[in-house]
Amino acid sequence: MNASTGKVNLLGLTQPQMESFFEQIGEKRFRAGQVMKWVHHFGVDDFDAMSNIGKALREKLKANAEIRGPEVVSEDISADGTRKWVVRVASGSCVETVYIPQAGRGTLCVSSQAGCALDCSFCSTGKQGFNSNLTAAEVIGQVWIANRSFGTVPAKIDRAITNVVMMGMGEPLLNFDNVVSAMHIMMDDLGYGISKRKVTLSTSGVVPMIEELGKVIDVSLALSLHAPNDELRNELVPINRKYPLAMLLEACQRYISGLGEKRVLTIEYTLLKGVNDHPEHAEQMIELLASIPCKINLIPFNPFPHSGYERPSNNAIRRFQDMLHKAGHNVTVRTTRGDDIDAACGQLVGQVADRTRRSERYIAVRQLPVDGAPAAASQS
Ligand code: SAH
Ligand code: SF4
Repeated sequence: MNASTGKVNLLGLTQPQMESFFEQIGEKRFRAGQVMKWVHHFGVDDFDAMSNIGKALREKLKANAEIRGPEVVSEDISADGTRKWVVRVASGSCVETVYIPQAGRGTLCVSSQAGCALDCSFCSTGKQGFNSNLTAAEVIGQVWIANRSFGTVPAKIDRAITNVVMMGMGEPLLNFDNVVSAMHIMMDDLGYGISKRKVTLSTSGVVPMIEELGKVIDVSLALSLHAPNDELRNELVPINRKYPLAMLLEACQRYISGLGEKRVLTIEYTLLKGVNDHPEHAEQMIELLASIPCKINLIPFNPFPHSGYERPSNNAIRRFQDMLHKAGHNVTVRTTRGDDIDAACGQLVGQVADRTRRSERYIAVRQLPVDGAPAAASQS
């Protein structure tokens, strides 16, 4: 419910929620499917464009509901086809969404929170502190906005978005209900019809919520590992102090084995020069992951001002990759896209207007995983 208009935002409703909405306003449940198609397949936000819905019901909908995506502050398209949107959410903060086209697929990187409370030492979102949780409409609204950019509303839009990764700003498992609702809409045929293997949630390791996730949805999981032992991980990813590696990997393993068919965990590992890129770290990682079906995505650190970290040399990155590869792992190194629109990892900028942890106006240089082989993207 929008507090200022008193209207329900239909954009963020899952199919069962949409059916309940129609029941509540005294209408038939089948209307849910009609409206969802208009909203998500055709990109419509105007009830009058819904030609298979009679005038009386359209008027009733206008009185009770709205279709409202987050406000688009900017949209940029790179020479390589990468697109970046900065959108403003209800709290007044801005978050980013990036679309990365690749041969035969298109991956959308979506934000779940403005800021993040978890404060990983090399992440600029963490440096902002937590600002707000996005609503379900704001999470799916990023997909809606991106999708609309590939069509002419209200014509049916071709499916340019084949994969979604919850790897934008924020920790998705700390905005659980809204992210789960949005992911249901991503996978619903009345929504975006994206296969469950191609919707990936990335987490820094909120163990109890990994367990919860497995109970309510079937999506691919990516774990932001970044360190192969507790001592180092405590320093880089502070939530590790609460949920250490053994507990975390067990929860991840349980999650993927609970999915039924053969699935793998994606391991994200940001390489930080002189910190977690030594051969001994690769060796520890090989041991740690020995019994876990996984593929590894190495992310060379993307620097931002005052981070205190550096990106390793290409040689060091290759050496690390080779060691994992020789141990039998599927290892990719994330490449940078969209340089000319600052859409590369570590170059995304979100303005956070009202912040909880710092009073001065702050321009956040945001790291988004613009990926040569995004977690979900290589799962076909
Ligand atoms: N909060 C979730 C998802 C968002 S971050 C998580 O942590 O998994 C997406 C990925 O980008 C994470 O693996 C994160 O650790 C990584 N990342 C953050 N800052 C980075 C930087 N400066 N350079 C490279 N990768 C970074
Ligand atoms: Fe939050 Fe993820 Fe950044 Fe850690 S890496 S601070 S969990 S957004």
